[in-house]
Amino acid sequence: MTSTDCVKVAVRVRPFNKRERDAGSRCVISMTSNNISIQDPRNPQNSRTFTFDYTYWSHNGFSRNKDGLFVPEEACSRYADQTSVFLDLGQGILDNALQGYNATLLAYGQTGSGKSYSMVGYGPNKGLIPTLCERLFQSIRSTQASKQCQVFFSMLEIYNEQVADLLLKVSRSAGGLRVREDQQRGFYVEGLKRVPCDSAVQIFSKECITKQSNIYLVDLAGSERQRSSGSEADRLKEGTAINLSLTTLGNVISALADTALGKKVVHIPYRDSVLTKLLQSALGGNSRTVMIATLSPADICYEESLSTLRYAERAKRIQNKAVVNEGPTERLVKELKAENAKLLMRLSRLGQEGRKTDDETKELRRLLTHNELQIRAIQTLWEQHLQEALKDWETQYATITQERRMMQMHPYIMNINEDAQLSGVVKLFIQEGEWDIGLADNSPRVLSIRGLGIQEKHAVFSNQQRRVSITPVSGSKVIVNGVSVSKRIELQHLDRLVLGSNSTYLFIGFPSERSGEDWSRYDYDYFQSELAEAEGFHIQSLCEDQGHRPHQPDPCLLPVFYDYVKLMPMVTEANQMSKELKKGVEFKLEIKNLAMTDSKGHDLEKDIAVRVTSVESKQVWMWSKAKFVNRKFLMEEVYQQQVGGGEGADRAPLPRERDPFWDPLEPLHLGSAHLWLQSLAFRIPLEEQVEVVGPEGTEEAILQTQLVPCNPMGLPLGEDDILIDPSELLGKRMDFQLVLDQCCGLRWVKESRNRGVQIGFRVFDCPQPLYTPAIWHNVNPLMDHRVQFTALRTSQELLNYMQSNALVLELWGLQEGCSELVSCMDGVKMTQKDNIIIDKISASEHSTAETRSSDLSSSLRALHQDMEQLRNVNAALRKENSCLREQLNSARNGVENNRGRQERRGSLRPSCDAEFAKALKVFYHSMTSVRGQLQRLRRHKPSEEADLLGFRLFVDEHTYLLKDFSEQLEQCVTTLKQDVAAIVRRKREKSGIWS
Ligand code: ADP
Ligand code: MG
Repeated sequence: MTSTDCVKVAVRVRPFNKRERDAGSRCVISMTSNNISIQDPRNPQNSRTFTFDYTYWSHNGFSRNKDGLFVPEEACSRYADQTSVFLDLGQGILDNALQGYNATLLAYGQTGSGKSYSMVGYGPNKGLIPTLCERLFQSIRSTQASKQCQVFFSMLEIYNEQVADLLLKVSRSAGGLRVREDQQRGFYVEGLKRVPCDSAVQIFSKECITKQSNIYLVDLAGSERQRSSGSEADRLKEGTAINLSLTTLGNVISALADTALGKKVVHIPYRDSVLTKLLQSALGGNSRTVMIATLSPADICYEESLSTLRYAERAKRIQNKAVVNEGPTERLVKELKAENAKLLMRLSRLGQEGRKTDDETKELRRLLTHNELQIRAIQTLWEQHLQEALKDWETQYATITQERRMMQMHPYIMNINEDAQLSGVVKLFIQEGEWDIGLADNSPRVLSIRGLGIQEKHAVFSNQQRRVSITPVSGSKVIVNGVSVSKRIELQHLDRLVLGSNSTYLFIGFPSERSGEDWSRYDYDYFQSELAEAEGFHIQSLCEDQGHRPHQPDPCLLPVFYDYVKLMPMVTEANQMSKELKKGVEFKLEIKNLAMTDSKGHDLEKDIAVRVTSVESKQVWMWSKAKFVNRKFLMEEVYQQQVGGGEGADRAPLPRERDPFWDPLEPLHLGSAHLWLQSLAFRIPLEEQVEVVGPEGTEEAILQTQLVPCNPMGLPLGEDDILIDPSELLGKRMDFQLVLDQCCGLRWVKESRNRGVQIGFRVFDCPQPLYTPAIWHNVNPLMDHRVQFTALRTSQELLNYMQSNALVLELWGLQEGCSELVSCMDGVKMTQKDNIIIDKISASEHSTAETRSSDLSSSLRALHQDMEQLRNVNAALRKENSCLREQLNSARNGVENNRGRQERRGSLRPSCDAEFAKALKVFYHSMTSVRGQLQRLRRHKPSEEADLLGFRLFVDEHTYLLKDFSEQLEQCVTTLKQDVAAIVRRKREKSGIWS
């Protein structure tokens, strides 16, 4: 009985968790019948659809019933509860097992996506494993099946590439159990208990047993992140073993899928991890296999979910050949029974034929008895197995009871894992006296732990006079409640401990100190948030930076915050691995765009990035979050091979292109400066020193720049060309030049002289950014870069743009070995004089221009109130002006002749307007410096470690800056008022009303 069939694949999507709800996540997954689609949150047009054997929507449309079960809210709800998942998947596995096929059910998905919920379940919402076991025992007891089939049940835990027998907890050997390979059995775990699953111990059926099946039910525990919670006396440096099982599983799935597609695959890497060794028969072997892929629906998990779907897609193609198993024991029993039947037949035939002799009968009877005894012996063995198993359970129970007793007597620390199911698995009791904690395991007074960055002797616990303290050994990393400690510190109940890179423990004080509080709130996220906060990264401070009121976190910032907290321990681990592997690179988390704004001055979308710096060469890479996460997987593999694995420890270093710590060098975006275009709309030249601000608000350089309104030939316009009303430009040709004179105080080059810079900018509707030539090795390079832009028929849109937007000048950092940035001139139109043509919007696009212009004018209002005020003054002035003119006309009527009047009117207007424009120019210039001062004020913050004196200094400084700011502002407005008053006075004088 053989059947070829593919691995069946199901996907399930869970509800939002708290973190996702807090972050205001959107659901990016949708399902219709057997199709599932996932949408890229950054690019909603980009969506991918996959088809699977089963899809389960468990995201919404459910309620909790009186028994605590999650059930569909309404009859028509498509919510898939645990029962419906079991009926599809669990029942099939059970049927297969009872028919004698090996059957495997495994869950795959990122941590927290719902693997355990589906496989094991939580509370009354029992998952596949318990329900399947229940049904298995039921059918064994009640049906024919029991007489046909022997089912063995093993439970094992793969943690850190070590196999531990969960049915045999007491005698956990130091190195875990061995996985061996056998010609017939394939890979198996040596000495693993195989408990005959006959739930209640009863005499096994005397009927023939013909089939045996193995059921593998796999819930992958652990996390993608390197974690340590092991306490076994084991000196192996903890690598990234949990993760290794996951990645290897992925690799095996990929290789098998390729085989199914007819591709030539030389090697399927079953041997690369314990999990895949054990699952060899389930994947591409003798088993009927179902995989359930679990997903988070949230936009912030898009990358992980997409990757899960891709693996699931590949797993569908894997083909297995399942056969009904006949074990040797079973065969023996079968043979004996067949022989018995033959003997009985002979006996009866002898009797019928009347030829029976006493001897022959005796012999036959002896044989029969012998056979029956043998059968019974086999069955007794089976019973013995059951008895032994029962004994093991009892011993294990005793261990648990013992642990409970210890918990009632002593303070202890317990591990906190990212996978909540693994939290509390390790409890280290701190009994009276002194206890070393570390890798060492050579003395009874040592609490042995493993983990990245843990030393042989890491710290010392002391429990004296009912006080517990910890003293770090010099050079080892110990963090208590987020704060790094180097001296002895007394521990309080529920203190949080981080040992080494990221081994997290919760301290539980003496029983008398415990008062039934809820410890569950001290979960992995709590630890990480606390560490982030201690680093000065706090959701509140992040909001204040952005000018939001504290206590009201901007929902857009929450995903960034959670990303930061999530990546923090990974960055710590990457640094530790780099240190141990002597890679000489440092990783640092950064928030992209924290202090950056777009051309309108609006905040840019924030994102997490990792800055990678080579300590020696000072080369710098910026990695996106996704890239870092990917690279870290690879780093762990390298680390595992070179440090953790033992075998191949002396392997030659990887070639650079395969080294996950390395990357080709690219130009880095160092920061941006804003050059406001406002003055161009009035044809006023602008000469400015602008500050280039880095992503986190640092000053990267000062740029000396100009914006020069000019004629088509490039000659600067004069003061008489200054406009009072920008709309006069509408439909006319406009030319201006951007001049980049000099770059001063380049921090990037100051840090390392073998670097260079380029400046990139994009004007209005220019399709591509333009770049200046590269300048190397100079902290204050002269650039003398000049570009002329031409709008042939100035549109309203361009006018609006100039009044509310800035030209963003991006500073790019170059380093040795990276290619320079080149301006791409595709789609860029030029005049005959090589000016760049902007404002190419045709009249037909009027309506879109209209909507955009309303958009622009609304932000204009908010951003430039000073401009509005100025216009009001201007309008009032004009009114007065025309009023005066009328009076003047009527006064002069009859006094002067027509010719004289016209003369006067003609010369009056331009000279007054020019004066007014001059006043405006002065005003703009001073406003620019006021704006700069305001920016400085906004960035001016007390330092993290400031003490009282430090704060006082800060306050003094701040007061001074404020005073300066208000003086400048006052000065600006006063000058304007005076100028305007003078102009009005002169006008009145000239009109001669009071003369
Ligand atoms: P994993 O084992 O993949 O790390 P868990 O199964 O522990 O993830 O799930 C993480 C959290 O999400 C748990 O609190 C669990 O109760 C919840 N959860 C997962 N799947 C579902 C579901 N289908 N319905 C309701 N809650 C779920
Ligand atoms: Mg789990």
